[in-house]
Amino acid sequence: MKHYSMTIAGKAVDSSEVITVVNPATSAPLATAPDCSTEQLDEAVSSARAAYPGWRATSDSERRQVLKEAAGVLVANADELIRLLTSEQGKPHDEARVEIMGSAYWLSSLADMEIPVEVNEDTAERRSETRHVPIGVVAGISPWNFPVFLSFWKIAPALRAGNTMVLKPSPFTPLTMLRIGELLSGVIPDGVLNIISGGDALGPKVTAHPGIDKISFTGSTATGKRVMASAAADLKRVTLELGGNDAAIIMPDVDVDAVAKDLFWAAFRNSAQICIATKRMYVHEAIYDRLAKALTEYTQTVKMGDGSEQGTELGPVQNKLQYDRVVEIIKDCKDRGFRFLTGGDVAQDSPGYFIPVTIVDNPPEDSRVVQEEAFGPILPLIKFSEVEDVIARANASEYGLAGSVWSADTDAALSIAARLETGTVWINEVQHLTPFQAFAGHKQSGLGVENGLGGLLEYTVPQTITVKPAKAA
Ligand code: NAD
Repeated sequence: MKHYSMTIAGKAVDSSEVITVVNPATSAPLATAPDCSTEQLDEAVSSARAAYPGWRATSDSERRQVLKEAAGVLVANADELIRLLTSEQGKPHDEARVEIMGSAYWLSSLADMEIPVEVNEDTAERRSETRHVPIGVVAGISPWNFPVFLSFWKIAPALRAGNTMVLKPSPFTPLTMLRIGELLSGVIPDGVLNIISGGDALGPKVTAHPGIDKISFTGSTATGKRVMASAAADLKRVTLELGGNDAAIIMPDVDVDAVAKDLFWAAFRNSAQICIATKRMYVHEAIYDRLAKALTEYTQTVKMGDGSEQGTELGPVQNKLQYDRVVEIIKDCKDRGFRFLTGGDVAQDSPGYFIPVTIVDNPPEDSRVVQEEAFGPILPLIKFSEVEDVIARANASEYGLAGSVWSADTDAALSIAARLETGTVWINEVQHLTPFQAFAGHKQSGLGVENGLGGLLEYTVPQTITVKPAKAA
């Protein structure tokens, strides 16, 4: 079986213990990766610590250049990385391509971004300015749904701002980031970006490590709380991007046939394993039946299968734990007698973690399928009649990641958007993200911000310097 190595201080590093990564389309073992020991974690942190003064001292233009070159490495090796990402994550090749190219785009965009200096006072008496200086060693911890993209959301701003890093991808999907670590070792100076892998025990060791100054974490809300508690011991800075239960509100004036396809993908892209997937679809009663029919019909046209096969549009659920969780929610729907518009029957004995697209017909608000983040291809389609009521229902969640409003009347949609308690609201689209646009979770969906200038500044601390002219003798 193929084996991948960690990158520590610019060198390929292996460990005596390994973790096995499974291809979710076949449920067969795919490759092995090192299970980083405590000593190796110490080495990774020490190497980031040793590289920090040199990297911090590089000029802005040198750092920009390194980020651009790193983007070039991703593009030059895209075909290999796409195949590897599909085999460990399950997503179709086209989606894997978007992830690799998107990561390259984030790197080059961050290279172009300016870190401002704020002048607070500029008088004959004094000049005062606030600079944004790097923090030190950043730990990046990423999830399995977008193992590369969400890692680069951290790597690009952290390195751009002058920090060094230890990155730990999810144990379910470490391979593509390990391979990228190898490919980048000739481009990024030794120790500036260390990539390690390991099982469940590694994450808590990373967050507790005294040599780390900041943690940038993307994952579930439950884990995010543990990360924050662990960071409190020595007041590490944290950025947390956590779970969501995004509502889409579909107003009666939409053109049902024109939006059905977009609404399908809003919920099911990446087999619904997106933090900002539509996870509750509230449809006005006047168009509910028509939209239910259009979604059901469109579902029949979508090909689910092994992401490496031509024409596959939806892959499997990424891992057995998540698969079991979605199966359990489907079972709960059955036990409570809910009707399925499509799906609901999971083949028990075929290989791979495949769950058919499942749409539940108007389940009650208090059901698990409405209240919980399933993070898999099951969607509750829910009827509403009053705008006030649907806003209240959309907001009645501990999450506040994102949401969307679909309407021909932009002003009406905007007034609903303003009342949603989420970090992003899209109108007539979802999941539009750019390196220049803030992305932040409200409530228990996160702390801090990624992307935009605010996201870049999360990898800095302010330093105010005042200069008073020296007194003449
Ligand atoms: P997870 O919380 O189980 O794991 C995320 C990462 O944290 C993994 O690398 C894991 O190994 C590590 N980890 C686990 N326990 C840890 C601990 N105690 N200390 C430190 N690290 C630990 O999440 P997941 O299942 O990989 O990802 C799915 C979740 O991520 C969903 O809830 C989804 O909504 C969320 N997510 C959020 C965003 C966002 O930007 N807001 C993006 C993608 C996914």
